[in-house]
Amino acid sequence: MFYRDANIRPFDKKVWLSSPTMHGPELEYVKKAYETNWMSTIGENINEVERLASEYIGVKHAVALSSGTAALHMCMKLAGERLYGQPPMGHGSLEGHRVFCSDMTFDATVNPVVYEGGIPVFIDTERETWNMDPAALEKAFEIYPEVRLIVIAHLYGTPGKIDEIKKIAEAHNALVVEDAAESLGAIYKRKETGTFGDYAAISFNGNKIITGSSGGCFLTNNIEDANKVRKWSTQSRENAPWYQHEEIGFNYRMSNVIAGIIRGQFEYLDEHITQKTAIYNRYKEELGDLPVSVNPFENDKATPNFWLSCLLIDKDAMSKEIRGETEYAYIPEKGKSCPHEILEAISSINAEGRPIWKPMHMQPIYRMNPFITKSGNGRARTNAYISGAVEDIGMDIFSRGVCLPSDNKMTTEQQDIVIAVIRRCFD
Ligand SMILES: *Cc1c(COP(=O)(O)O)cnc(C)c1O
Repeated sequence: MFYRDANIRPFDKKVWLSSPTMHGPELEYVKKAYETNWMSTIGENINEVERLASEYIGVKHAVALSSGTAALHMCMKLAGERLYGQPPMGHGSLEGHRVFCSDMTFDATVNPVVYEGGIPVFIDTERETWNMDPAALEKAFEIYPEVRLIVIAHLYGTPGKIDEIKKIAEAHNALVVEDAAESLGAIYKRKETGTFGDYAAISFNGNKIITGSSGGCFLTNNIEDANKVRKWSTQSRENAPWYQHEEIGFNYRMSNVIAGIIRGQFEYLDEHITQKTAIYNRYKEELGDLPVSVNPFENDKATPNFWLSCLLIDKDAMSKEIRGETEYAYIPEKGKSCPHEILEAISSINAEGRPIWKPMHMQPIYRMNPFITKSGNGRARTNAYISGAVEDIGMDIFSRGVCLPSDNKMTTEQQDIVIAVIRRCFD
């Protein structure tokens, strides 16, 4: 089925959701590391990545690590030790403590809370930016006033409601960990994401806006925190003539080879953002007459990096789609569509789309964790939810949303075909 149109042919080369784009300088930096034998977790490329990241984002210190997840783990450990002190050996620094977390995100935002023994409490999503809902966060503090840590992500490169969340955090004396893994280069009120949290993380995973194949950075304005992360990430070696250890360590440092790729990619971050912005605007314009909308942002405050363009189908234009834990089924209907009909159509022309991040409160692994919506306990909703009295916004966006091909190498001709194929779904 190319998608219900004999004139549409599948792409010879796959059009990806978001794939790495190399430019040339990356290889030169890697080659230099190779030729000088700096094939290690120390070297010039690492120093340069730390300089480039901190200067671009506008924080005092960046610590180059093996992944965004490792950076988030360091954020949680620092926050836990600052809030609750150093834990006994074998225990996490957040052990037994609840932590308010973004709900509609990648599980790497939340898992590091659990690495440190914390209990994620999921906060529902708002409709204006698809990030943590400040109203639900307020509600969560009514229910759990003892909580002192909030973990927020900026989904798909769109800054969340930072002012509102920071204000609530201050009122409750809580720290904020900012997961800017998807939002490198996104701006909120003239400042880069990654500057707002007490601790923050970015990622250079293969599908991010710039990549080293893997890698991440921990961000902070506090030199002592930066030094702690440097030490913890290199097995907690003390300053001594031999291997001396006073704390448990991790092997989390970035490779100088990978750092060479990231160093080269930084020169192209702005170009990638420009390309992604054009892709988003094109979808928005060309799909404007369909019963759909693109992922929203706060016009007056935020400039996203537009890492992924997404689509939300209007409620009354949804054909019936049913999802189990690992399978789905839908019934095609004239004039209407549903996420998996669109995803199948995209895939039939050799392009890649994806469902929206499945909210954490819907994940089997987190089924016992609390979930708070703006009207209160979202788990106690059986009847209330069916009657519509409790609104689960994350579930609603997940059930009506799709991530569209957003690769910066996609040509306008290719995007036209993706758009044509989406239009057919609503015929
Ligand atoms: C990619 C991503 C991470 C993790 O980064 P890695 O470098 O893959 O470990 C964390 N949070 C979000 C929201 C992400 O998209």
